[in-house]
Amino acid sequence: MPKDQPADGRPSAAQAAEEKAPFWKRKTLKEMSEAEWESLCDGCGKCCLVGLEDEDTGEIYLTDLSCKLFDADKCACGDYANRFKKIDDCTKLTPDNVPELHWLPKTCAYRLVAAGRDLFWWHHLISGDRETVHAANVSVRGKTSPERGQKVATLMRRIVEWPKPKRAPRKTKP
Ligand code: SF4
Ligand code: SF4
Repeated sequence: MPKDQPADGRPSAAQAAEEKAPFWKRKTLKEMSEAEWESLCDGCGKCCLVGLEDEDTGEIYLTDLSCKLFDADKCACGDYANRFKKIDDCTKLTPDNVPELHWLPKTCAYRLVAAGRDLFWWHHLISGDRETVHAANVSVRGKTSPERGQKVATLMRRIVEWPKPKRAPRKTKP
């Protein structure tokens, strides 16, 4: 018997709370079903941006240029099912590589869960609304143009400081 389980066999309060917890708190990335894994993406679009890495510091600077398959208005891949056939350097996220992909934004839901952290307020799994990632200033919707093989000097001029996420709206009393 687990040490925190009452002698009458009923689940302890801690066990009951864990069973009620949402899947991203109960499961590791490896344990998630495909549907759970896919739903974890908040749709920010930042992993589809062209970034430049400072060789000395490892810092990643994001531009406002996206992968050419990115649909800027929808803030989503233009052909998600065929992305690896169409774009050679599109990276498939996996439970194994997420912790190593330091170019993923710090707000990326996969990165957060891999680090044992909770999702932010704007995530649709928390808010119940896929628009909140845009309302919170986290997404790049409507703010990018496709890369066209520009040289590094041009890319450097396209580096932008993406806005900080907005705070969660205050709850009003019923
Ligand atoms: S950065 Fe992460 S959360 Fe944002 S679109 Fe890419 S995979 Fe989804
Ligand atoms: S192929 Fe699609 S998912 Fe991959 S980087 Fe381009 S837009 Fe993003």
